[in-house]
Amino acid sequence: MHPMIELEECYGARNYAPLPVILTRGEGVYVWDINGNQYIDMMSAYSAVSHGHCHPGLLKALNDQAHTLTMVSRAFHTDKLGPFLKRVCEITGMEKVLPMNSGAEAVETALKAARKWSYNVKNVPKDMAEIIVCKGNFHGRTIAIVGMSTEPQYRAGFGPFPAGFKQIPYGDVDALEQAITPHTAAFLVEPIQGEGGIIVPPEGYLRKCAEICKKHNILLICDEIQTGMGRTGKFLASDHEGIKPDGVLLGKALGGGLIPVSVFLTRKDVMDVITPGDHGSTFGGNPLAAAVGMAAIDVLLNDGLIQNAALQGDYLIQQLKKIKSPLIEEVRGKGLLVGVSINPRYYSARDLCLRLMKKGVLSKETHKTVIRLAPPLLITREQLDTVIDAISETLTEAEASLKTL
Ligand SMILES: *Cc1c(COP(=O)(O)O)cnc(C)c1O
Repeated sequence: MHPMIELEECYGARNYAPLPVILTRGEGVYVWDINGNQYIDMMSAYSAVSHGHCHPGLLKALNDQAHTLTMVSRAFHTDKLGPFLKRVCEITGMEKVLPMNSGAEAVETALKAARKWSYNVKNVPKDMAEIIVCKGNFHGRTIAIVGMSTEPQYRAGFGPFPAGFKQIPYGDVDALEQAITPHTAAFLVEPIQGEGGIIVPPEGYLRKCAEICKKHNILLICDEIQTGMGRTGKFLASDHEGIKPDGVLLGKALGGGLIPVSVFLTRKDVMDVITPGDHGSTFGGNPLAAAVGMAAIDVLLNDGLIQNAALQGDYLIQQLKKIKSPLIEEVRGKGLLVGVSINPRYYSARDLCLRLMKKGVLSKETHKTVIRLAPPLLITREQLDTVIDAISETLTEAEASLKTL
């Protein structure tokens, strides 16, 4: 074992199982390991590096602000927060925003705001608010959030969990309608389930959910932490359905792959239930984060990354579907959020990720059977061709080694 990996193993908590590659440098879609080998990064840090590694424009924004003013806490105003809040509201069509850092914190913020809104505005009896979520969801790792998860490993050993959550099947409109009671505050949903295995719901699903939520006066909150910021070929994945959710969560790529920046966006009447002292975060909305968040949105638009995600994503999915291999069960996704589900009878998705790594393509399995392909949004067609060839060769070789067994 390499001494660097040994150090991690010796001193680090074993809450991840990384591929055995030690990265030292990144630029655009490429990363290099400690031996100088080059890889195409098809993971982009779970979509946090959508702008590509070390984007010069983002580095400049980070660097300029780092030399000017970094942290003051929300005890004071800054000249960076207001413009950032305005920008992120305008681009999402929302009225108000609360800045946090990690995605899970933004989700917690949404849960708190939705509950308080239901008591103050909807008159739900005290401590009775319900929030509906989907089976197979991923919204982060806090106690409340894993409490509403249906993934046994995320929960096991971490109870007891907060009450007030209901799970319904993903993609099922009738289940939503049936789950609603007079105590329902919100429906929290991912437009595409990312960690759940790149699960794309039926066309029209979000649109119908929006109608139902409106009819029953409950908040439709879209967790776009992974699907937002252009990942699926629109700024928000919910834009594909032409709907305007009552709440939106952004994170990951909002930090430009540099620092954690997340937000909960919503309507004025919802956000106004939060008053000074109700909720906060020492680092949330700091000027460094505001400057980087602003630049992350600007670069996305100025570099045409959203259109590129749509264009290259279509190409990637179309080319992957052409690969005929008994190892592939399904290719699915939207834009540059793509999953290749692997028949578990032959190989685990991790086995194939290890083989891909040796061919210079970095990806990571989700849920043992799905290879996730979510490169930086600036990937070119030529770079994708390299990836597609590597996948195709890997599958052919993996299949051949099955036959010789
Ligand atoms: C990654 C993710 C989160 C959690 O974000 P963290 O920054 O890891 O806390 C929440 N929701 C979705 C949809 C995600 O993909």
